[in-house]
Amino acid sequence: ALTDRLTGVFDRLSGRGVLSEKDVDEVMREIRVALLEADVALPVVRDFIAKAKDAATGEAVIRSVRPADQVVKITYDGLVEMLGGEGEPESLNLSLNPPTVILMAGLQGSGKTTTAGKLALKLVKDRKKVLLASLDTRRPAAMEQLGMLAEQAGASFLPIVAGQSAPDIARRAMQAAKLQGFDVLILDTAGRTTIDEAMMSEAAEIAKIATPSETLLVADALTGQDAVRTAKAFHERLPLTGLVLTRADGDGRGGAALSMRAVTGLPIKFLGVSEKIDGLDAFDAARVAGRILGRGDVVALVEKAAQELDMAKAEATARKLAKGQFDLDMMADQLSQMKRMGGMEGMMGLLPGVQKMKRQIAESGLTDKTFDRQLAIISSMTKAERKKPDILQASRKRRIAAGSGVDVAEVNRLLKQHRQMADTFKALSKNGGKGLAQMARM
Ligand code: GDP
Ligand code: MG
Repeated sequence: ALTDRLTGVFDRLSGRGVLSEKDVDEVMREIRVALLEADVALPVVRDFIAKAKDAATGEAVIRSVRPADQVVKITYDGLVEMLGGEGEPESLNLSLNPPTVILMAGLQGSGKTTTAGKLALKLVKDRKKVLLASLDTRRPAAMEQLGMLAEQAGASFLPIVAGQSAPDIARRAMQAAKLQGFDVLILDTAGRTTIDEAMMSEAAEIAKIATPSETLLVADALTGQDAVRTAKAFHERLPLTGLVLTRADGDGRGGAALSMRAVTGLPIKFLGVSEKIDGLDAFDAARVAGRILGRGDVVALVEKAAQELDMAKAEATARKLAKGQFDLDMMADQLSQMKRMGGMEGMMGLLPGVQKMKRQIAESGLTDKTFDRQLAIISSMTKAERKKPDILQASRKRRIAAGSGVDVAEVNRLLKQHRQMADTFKALSKNGGKGLAQMARM
């Protein structure tokens, strides 16, 4: 049966080892090559490898997969995290006080004008009234290009007035957007083929005039090693709010995404995926991470093994809980799981009959830091103490408090919380075990 099979996995786990430095080092050589082949900038590669090594070494081994594959998975998770994580995709920050101004910045040919049109289409589909304005005074063709895109997107286009400077146009566009009740004004700037002072100071001046809600650096996903230099230069001079990577439909493996994100810390908001006006996708960190590593197969494999393991653990926990057992080791497990899942708030709301506990926890001001301190307290206990907290007398509590760097009152609070949790679990298991099974699966 499924349960037996899972128990098997769980039993194998109890005698588990950890990933050794040798396991990790071997794979890291391979990862390094993969990152370089994906055109991630060298300093970013170095930094990332060091962090990934740290994260993988000493991790508990999942018996059903090869250690090497597991290291790849851990590295992949690190990549996803570094690219912005797996949560909701980034979106545009619209001002509560329209018009929202979006400023497009970047080198010439990076795809600013095209992306301005694509954003306009997205916003128009969201029923926004959008005005596009071109500040590219040096190239009349660029202005016409934006005018055509505006028409395709169903947006308005600021009429061209010959002889105006870019800052002049920015001022006129702001005024028009305000007077005519536009929701969003997109300013498309002129870029140059290389970073120079004239371009930077003009862009900075425009940013000052227009006080944009979004200043997006548009960059070619195929720029490779140049990505860092470009990102740095723009980030130093402009209050950037996000990145857009174009030509993600190209041959490259998208290392620029990692480089630029690492250097600026800015969210990657969109990927350009074709020359067409609807070719703009929300950024998907998982997809890009898989592409950078070029090892989607292994990642899927390990994900499955890790899931089985989680289920096995959950089943074992459920069995213990049903018997009315809930020791401090199990509490530590729960705490670290909750911490990983982004805190109590998210998960507790989903469970029936736990509203009271949720309130208590909220009142006690439980945060990620609290989780860490509580985990520290539990790990300062002996095995026997964790199994049977009843034996904790004053002197033992003092020792534990000293060992974990908290005061005795906090140890007492933790023990009280443990008792409350144990009671809740007992009550839930009397309740036909339905709530418990659900909780265990979380
Ligand atoms: P700008 O100089 O920064 O305004 O760049 P443009 O918007 O004029 O784009 C330069 C070229 O790149 C044009 O030929 C676009 O069609 C093309 N381009 C822009 N974005 C993408 C994209 O996401 N994918 C592909 N394949 N081509 C793109
Ligand atoms: Mg342009």
